[in-house]
Amino acid sequence: MKISYLSLSGKRCTVQFYGCNFRCKGCFAMQTNRYTEMTPSRLSAIINQLGIHEVVLAGGEPTIYRKELPSFIKSCNARTILSTNGSLMDRAFVTELENVCLDEVHIDLKAYTRELHEWYTGVSNEKVLDAIELLNDSNLNFEVITVFIPDIIDNDEIERIATFLSGIGDINYRIIRYVPARGLSRRPTEEEIKEAVSIARKYLSNVTSSLDYRAHPLKSVRLYGQDIMDITNAAGTPER
Ligand code: SF4
Repeated sequence: MKISYLSLSGKRCTVQFYGCNFRCKGCFAMQTNRYTEMTPSRLSAIINQLGIHEVVLAGGEPTIYRKELPSFIKSCNARTILSTNGSLMDRAFVTELENVCLDEVHIDLKAYTRELHEWYTGVSNEKVLDAIELLNDSNLNFEVITVFIPDIIDNDEIERIATFLSGIGDINYRIIRYVPARGLSRRPTEEEIKEAVSIARKYLSNVTSSLDYRAHPLKSVRLYGQDIMDITNAAGTPER
């Protein structure tokens, strides 16, 4: 697996995987060719060595390493959350994640309108829509997440997504405030996010937003390359 970096905040760790199969116009991920190669056992040894309580698998897109992820999750002592664009999840992978007791999935639905999704990500949303249905049929905890981007993915699109989700079930849905990147759009106002939430709540009972999660975050530290390998050596885990 290729890891861009580990972000540590208290006993929480975000693993930023390198690479993605989408090409989002508003991608927040750092564009760099820097990464560290690591096996699942080595990564879990680091997480366990650090005494991490919760690990978020993010990116980039973690599921491009779908063959390796289950063995990492199985050997990791921390509560594990998979954050994914959902396009590579199929029934077999969902079953594998159930079998290794993944704690939670955060799946992005960037747009419901097919043409808009293709324009924004370069990829069809067909597999993502299927993945949401598969997750709903599984015993995994999950929530669907959309980034609200003014004039691109805003109230009309949020309503389409909420309508689609409510046709599957009363799915947990979160709306995230866009952080401007690459000059694509502006930061939404708080009022815009609140309005989007109230629109989605016409269809779903559990709708939250990034406004609900505001707290003073603990200072985070990023570990790259050699810093990660130093922990590995301290963990005494041979590469396999
Ligand atoms: S899915 Fe995420 S990491 Fe991949 S291109 Fe889109 S925003 Fe960037």
